[in-house]
Amino acid sequence: MSILIFADQANGKIKKASFEAVQYGAKVAAQLGTTATAVVLGPAENAELAALGNYGVSKVLYVADNRLHEVESTAFTKVIAEAAEKEGAKVIVFPHNFDGKAIAPRVAARLKAGLVAGAISYPDTSNGFVVKKNVFSGKAFANINITSDRKVIAVLPNTFPLTPGSGTATVEAFAATISDADFKVKVVKVETVSGDVPLTEAEIIVSGGRGLKGPENWGIVEDLAKVLGAATASSRPVADAGWRPHHEHVGQTGLTVRPNLYIAIGISGAIQHLAGVNGSKVIVVINKDPEAPFFKAADYGIVGDAFEVVPKLTEAVKQFKQ
Ligand code: FAD
Repeated sequence: MSILIFADQANGKIKKASFEAVQYGAKVAAQLGTTATAVVLGPAENAELAALGNYGVSKVLYVADNRLHEVESTAFTKVIAEAAEKEGAKVIVFPHNFDGKAIAPRVAARLKAGLVAGAISYPDTSNGFVVKKNVFSGKAFANINITSDRKVIAVLPNTFPLTPGSGTATVEAFAATISDADFKVKVVKVETVSGDVPLTEAEIIVSGGRGLKGPENWGIVEDLAKVLGAATASSRPVADAGWRPHHEHVGQTGLTVRPNLYIAIGISGAIQHLAGVNGSKVIVVINKDPEAPFFKAADYGIVGDAFEVVPKLTEAVKQFKQ
């Protein structure tokens, strides 16, 4: 019995959420007195594969099949389930990111395993195998006992800080038995969204709402984001109005983000917006209305006009960084 962790990659680079999942899986392996193996599919850089050893795995199974360059859930499921069989893995760990959300439930179904999606704790094995997750948009926790023999856990990104060590992992080629018939969809074109930092992986997000009055005023959001090395986001009405692209919209019907710092500018803090951002470690709210509901969820609040406050904040960060 061992632990298998799926580490997804983009353009040969392992994603941050996967390093977190690998570190989590390695700690669970230590807890259960077993070993941890990572599995990587598609073209990946050798240095990236070896780097997984720094997060506690002793072995990396590498499936260097060009057809796996783009994620295809059915084919990925088959390969990961085969890797789990090969390793005799009792616990299979995923990052709870887009890829993990698509593949973990399929692998769980295939292996007849119980699944906790969005885990925020290590398993408590004192009485069963209990893993904690957020429910009701982060308003409550559920402690879930996985009672099946095999168990699948998808780890919520940005929950367990990375503490890389200096371990090494052996990289072993793994030839999965997939054929073209296993690919049910084919990616014909990839259009990459421009922007320095992907929103779901950003450590800092500067977000704007309707209080900014129009798209012509977004310069103050972008300037602050630039000096902080942050990604930009928006409330939904802003995206609906076409002020910002829809892939920046966060909330119940948009992306869920969990940065270390979320700065909300001119956003009222409606429940549907909070649903997507209340997992942020620190929330700073800038709003001219002291009664804005967002202040109740904020760690720090500035009551003031965004057009005065934000440029001053940007300037202060610039000065601080010099
Ligand atoms: P507003 O509510 O108009 O708030 C603007 C804020 O800016 C106000 O608090 C105001 O005091 C402040 N302000 C104005 N001028 C200034 C200034 N000069 N300086 C500083 N502050 C200023 N919304 C989302 O964001 N994400 C979602 O995923 C989402 N999903 C939804 C799903 C459903 C089913 C429904 C019904 C709604 C959803 N909404 C969502 C909409 C949500 O209910 C709110 O309407 C929306 O979040 C409000 O956006 P806002 O805060 O930008 O605008």
